[in-house]
Amino acid sequence: MFKPRTIYYEKEILEYPLGKQLMKQYEDVNKVEIENHNNIEEMRKKQNKEFPEMKRNLIIGIRKTHKFIENHKTSDYLVPYTSSGCTASCMYCYLVCNYNKCSYLRLFVNREQMLEKIIKTANSSEKELTFEIGSNSDLILENIITNNLPWTIENFKNSKKGHLTFPTKFDMVDDILPLDHKGKVTIRVSVNPEEIINKVEFGTSRLTGRIEAINKLKEAGYKIGILIAPVILVDNWKEIYLELIKRLNSELSEKVKKDTFFEIIFMTYSYVHTKINEEAFPNAINLYNKEIMTGRGRGKYMYKNDIRKESEIFLREQMNKYFPNNKIEYIV
Ligand code: SF4
Repeated sequence: MFKPRTIYYEKEILEYPLGKQLMKQYEDVNKVEIENHNNIEEMRKKQNKEFPEMKRNLIIGIRKTHKFIENHKTSDYLVPYTSSGCTASCMYCYLVCNYNKCSYLRLFVNREQMLEKIIKTANSSEKELTFEIGSNSDLILENIITNNLPWTIENFKNSKKGHLTFPTKFDMVDDILPLDHKGKVTIRVSVNPEEIINKVEFGTSRLTGRIEAINKLKEAGYKIGILIAPVILVDNWKEIYLELIKRLNSELSEKVKKDTFFEIIFMTYSYVHTKINEEAFPNAINLYNKEIMTGRGRGKYMYKNDIRKESEIFLREQMNKYFPNNKIEYIV
């Protein structure tokens, strides 16, 4: 169980059952009352090198913005849900880029309000909608603190329409295995070669655990997607990604291989990441490689087009060989 160093909380959370529960759960943790979870002055002033320490805090508040963002990949809407940020520290995490110094875990206790809006939107739409509820955080990780996933799945399963989906890099799925989810939830597990997990995805679950989680979730009837993401073009990338694909082929259950789908995403990076990582993780590898990356505006970097194309061809070839019957939804 994650034990925060300090909890920063808005006092209104005590008006919600989950807020009360969390304050009780962490009775013995140092607490600081804040006005607004979006603006904690003490955090804003921290140096980049203090980034890993900041991730040990927990912020609890009320989510005030509930705007759904249209999406055209594996869902119809990206929905702000019960958390943002995370306790892990993947060096490329896009949440760092969006929120910079507030990519620590923030929990929002007004879950009833958020789920109600999803159910209303689902039921009033003519078409079956899919809601991505995990684009701002990792809900499997969050669940070990809040138990929000069983609550969500139990309360969503009887909604007349709609489907939920979220990605994860964690393997603590046992709590949701026995639930009666009625096939209304797709869990997309993100994988990377063991070497990348060790060197870049600090604080996440090992590859073995993630593969086991996929097999267990499938056995429990969940729909499964697999993200190979982000693909990072380190020197030996061909070798390690081929090994990953072969490992998936041999360790995923036949049930999974029968109908899972893939998403493949190349890493994007940024000036902000470079600055934070070189000060916060001085011994880590450098993910910025000017030979193969190019700017794409506002301090962001991506792999050069020709490099990316060539890599995509290689990955498609290998996927065709080892997963000929599985759809690749997209490669971006
Ligand atoms: S697990 Fe996801 S949310 Fe957490 S640091 Fe890694 S990429 Fe970011």
